[in-house]
Amino acid sequence: MLKKSIFAFLLIFILPLQAQDFSGIEIETVPIGNNFYVLYGSGGNIGVFAGEDGLIMIDSQFAPLSERITDAVERISGDSINFVINTHWHGDHTGGNGNFSADGAVIVAHEYVKRRMSMEVFLPLYNSRTMPSSIGALPTVTFMKDISFHSGNETITATHAPYAHTDTDAFVHFENSNIIHMGDLLWTGSYPRIDVQHGGGTVEGVINALGKALQLANGDTQFISGHGAIPEKGTSYVENYLAMLRAVSNRVSSMIAEGMSQQQIIAARPTAEFDAAFLAENAYIDAEMFTRIVYISLSK
Ligand SMILES: [Zn+2]
Repeated sequence: MLKKSIFAFLLIFILPLQAQDFSGIEIETVPIGNNFYVLYGSGGNIGVFAGEDGLIMIDSQFAPLSERITDAVERISGDSINFVINTHWHGDHTGGNGNFSADGAVIVAHEYVKRRMSMEVFLPLYNSRTMPSSIGALPTVTFMKDISFHSGNETITATHAPYAHTDTDAFVHFENSNIIHMGDLLWTGSYPRIDVQHGGGTVEGVINALGKALQLANGDTQFISGHGAIPEKGTSYVENYLAMLRAVSNRVSSMIAEGMSQQQIIAARPTAEFDAAFLAENAYIDAEMFTRIVYISLSK
């Protein structure tokens, strides 16, 4: 039984490995204040900070888009990119690393980003296989817990979130600008993809990461999600998203304790009350796949 939504889902994750066509993709630049810009293209949302002492980019999307991304960054500021910080190892966030590194950027990421990018990884739930990256695409500066950058009066800190969307995640906090780029710890318009099988991810880790990020935030904080439009300023989207994750996780956990099978739990639709708020049309991850992700995470 291959439902249409699952089929569409498989296409999204198989295509990047084969011949995804990037020819029609344009990079859209959205200024959000404080010299910070979000670039939408294909793959993870990019953050660009044009600071007094240089240019920092968060994530690099897919390699075929690097020229278009470079053009967009040049329109923001004449400077070249000094640092690329990866929020995690997935190819839709690190695919351009090699190109930006060749252009002189230093690639910075959690130590496990380097480890995961260096090996072949197969994720059965998503039917996706990633081959080892070339040496030039790997991070050259890595950290285990956190790392800070200082530019003018801005302090930028990438903090590791253990066993969350993957085991390689970091969220990036721009203290003075009050912006937090969450990478794939936060999704808008879709339930989250969490790599619970072989990517080292857990629902609990995502819940913990969101709690940590909220401690840094206030009513003026601009969160940036890894996929989808950026949420409204403030903490309410992240709080609601966190409440959804907790509720679905608790519900699925009780159903597992009652002895229900994965199929029975999916049929019971534990996400139903949240579908309207977190499922846009064409969402990456539908309710059934998300329930499967939570089930696998809690059954480990
Ligand atoms: Zn990801």
